[in-house]
Amino acid sequence: MNNHKIKTRSCPNCGSNEFRIVLTEGEFIIVRCSKCSLVYLQNIPDEKNIYEDYYDIEYSGKDYCADSEFGNLRDVYEINNQRIKYLKKFKQSGKLLDTGSGAGLFLKTASDNGYDVSGIDVSVKAVEFSEREFGLNASNKTADDLISENCKFDIISLWHVCEHFINPVNELKKIHRLLENDGICIIEVPNFNSVKFRLSGSKWQGGNHPLYHRSFFTEKTLRDTLRRSGFTKFRRLNISYKLPGKSPVYNASKFIFNLFAMDAFLDFVAWK
Ligand SMILES: [Zn+2]
Repeated sequence: MNNHKIKTRSCPNCGSNEFRIVLTEGEFIIVRCSKCSLVYLQNIPDEKNIYEDYYDIEYSGKDYCADSEFGNLRDVYEINNQRIKYLKKFKQSGKLLDTGSGAGLFLKTASDNGYDVSGIDVSVKAVEFSEREFGLNASNKTADDLISENCKFDIISLWHVCEHFINPVNELKKIHRLLENDGICIIEVPNFNSVKFRLSGSKWQGGNHPLYHRSFFTEKTLRDTLRRSGFTKFRRLNISYKLPGKSPVYNASKFIFNLFAMDAFLDFVAWK
């Protein structure tokens, strides 16, 4: 056994107090609920201002383009355009809320594609950037603020947001409330059951980032979380991002992993 002192918290999905440790990283202890299988962070760090330094914004708005000199921005630009193609299959237009909108990159692409966009993020710095550089409608409001203002949205996107939630069910219930009756939400999270994670364990930065990540989903546990949050109709999407410079073999292997819900990311669409 390890020497960590566990400040036990019960499973945020089902309330069970029974769990097994699946991995530790420094002081952080990640466990799997014995009842519902959700993997979650046992010891939650002090929340104060951790997101002010979360976004590494050392570029300007005009650097976000297909031929950007920043390789990561080229990738994100390409990924966001592919996300829009998937989104268009479900909703061609409408009021879109991006939660965890960060520097506004997805919002910018969605806005360029005709959606009526707004974003929320906890980071003051990131929201300021998205307003200043892209003229976007973003704020530091919370989902609770939007509920109290009676806001409704046709589309709510949560790109790599749910893994940050301390209590995903509580937060997704709010998303459910914020949707119009025919609204949809689109969710993408790191996949705890991915080949990448299985091979690299705690070294996989995409999935295990315990200062910020508190819930670690598999296809099964994300379905369970959606159900408990009030969603009755949802489906996993095989979004296999094709990135510039990656070989056809790399892209094909990602596609195949995704068929078995074992690619690095999990994507879901859920209807209200
Ligand atoms: Zn549980």
